[in-house]
Amino acid sequence: MTDIAAELSRRADAIHEHGWLTESSHQTSEGRVLYVRCARCGVRRVDLQPHPLSPPRSMSRDLG
Ligand SMILES: [Zn+2]
Repeated sequence: MTDIAAELSRRADAIHEHGWLTESSHQTSEGRVLYVRCARCGVRRVDLQPHPLSPPRSMSRDLG
């Protein structure tokens, strides 16, 4: 990839709002761990949902 293409790719990633899709999840003693991926750019994230009625929060910074 050229530097210009890489830069354009970074800008495209910066301007869109990630649309997270849950790829998999499992229950732990801490709550439910959700493995999510942005359908648009493919960035992955791991969320933890402590309680079924509470919103998930990110456990990690966006990966790759
Ligand atoms: Zn995205």
